[in-house]
Amino acid sequence: MEDAFFKTAERSFGFRFHGNPLDRASDRRDDAAFLAELRARPDARTLLIARDMPILARGDPREAFFTRAAVEALAGARLEILLGLEPSGAPVFAALLPDEAVEQRADKSDGFLDRRELVVPGREDLELIDLRSIALQGLLAPATIAILGEAKAIADWHARHGFCAKCGAPSRIAAAGWRRECDICKSQHFPRTDPVVIMLAVDGDRCLLGRQARFPKGMYSALAGFVEPGETIEEAVRREIHEEARIECGAVRYVASQPWPFPSSLMIGCLAEAKSRDILVDGHELEDARWFTRDEVEAMFAKRHPQGITAPHVMAIAHHILRFWLEGGGA
Ligand SMILES: [Zn+2]
Repeated sequence: MEDAFFKTAERSFGFRFHGNPLDRASDRRDDAAFLAELRARPDARTLLIARDMPILARGDPREAFFTRAAVEALAGARLEILLGLEPSGAPVFAALLPDEAVEQRADKSDGFLDRRELVVPGREDLELIDLRSIALQGLLAPATIAILGEAKAIADWHARHGFCAKCGAPSRIAAAGWRRECDICKSQHFPRTDPVVIMLAVDGDRCLLGRQARFPKGMYSALAGFVEPGETIEEAVRREIHEEARIECGAVRYVASQPWPFPSSLMIGCLAEAKSRDILVDGHELEDARWFTRDEVEAMFAKRHPQGITAPHVMAIAHHILRFWLEGGGA
């Protein structure tokens, strides 16, 4: 039976990296016969990642999925990870290409966007584009972007965890890519997701936004920070707002969450009831923080703020928490 409370509890937001349509088949990752059967299926598809960047086939539209034959034509794809099954039952894998299969031509990264120019030598039909740009520009379907987010986060975890964190011996891939095992001390290691709180402090008709020096010019966004060991989400929200802007907060309300594969965070969007008003910017994480009225936030969304201040991009959960508050979702 449908319950009105649960129907309204999870809203549909327009940010990227959610809506992954795959059945993760997490209960069958240790079933070798099942995995062998999946690998042999002619409709199996694979996403390719090299040096933390998705490889796409050029075209209009671009193509992110490759057949097994196309993957085998590339030098030494490794670390095959089962991302899940499509509704048809067809499996989707992720494969990592060795770093040396790709060449870096230039690096114009600016601290916000990854602008390394990477190529697969001799393969003009392929291009490497960083996932943030793919999401910002909507270069692929939202469901494909969500699956790429899963692939990038897990591939990055493998790339950083080649050795056992307990004894230092090399670890090996297991459970179709969802575990690493150490044969020396028998430890098992599981992929990480790092929780990050991202929130607006709300004071009646105003909300608190800040900017980091690395943000695009004029952009203000929700404050954010990692949840620390031994801390609830609510405590992390109050601590981060106090650390960054010296605002005291009371009640905290959860709004929505977003996988954020840079490299492997889960953004937990909240509103917090402000109990004080005088801002003192820490000057370390933030270069500025201010209260914004509803009229100002509306002007930011409409790109007509008199000081040229802009809201975060629609791909990010910060945009949607701000819109949720503007449309009447209170703390
Ligand atoms: Zn070990």
